[in-house]
Amino acid sequence: MSDKVCLACGRGSDETPLVSLEYKGSTLRICPQHLPVLIHDPHQLIGRLPGAEKLTPADHED
Ligand SMILES: [Zn+2]
Repeated sequence: MSDKVCLACGRGSDETPLVSLEYKGSTLRICPQHLPVLIHDPHQLIGRLPGAEKLTPADHED
């Protein structure tokens, strides 16, 4: 997986603006469309974002 694509949808910066994230010593990118997923429901990114299962949602909506 290239590191210059959204970690959720895989789109590159040619298709969408990407926000850079510093995580576990590497740089990840996520598009604005998926930034709320990372904030509110990071468990959706398990399998795409290493360690996502340890992230705590900012606002639990259950
Ligand atoms: Zn995305």
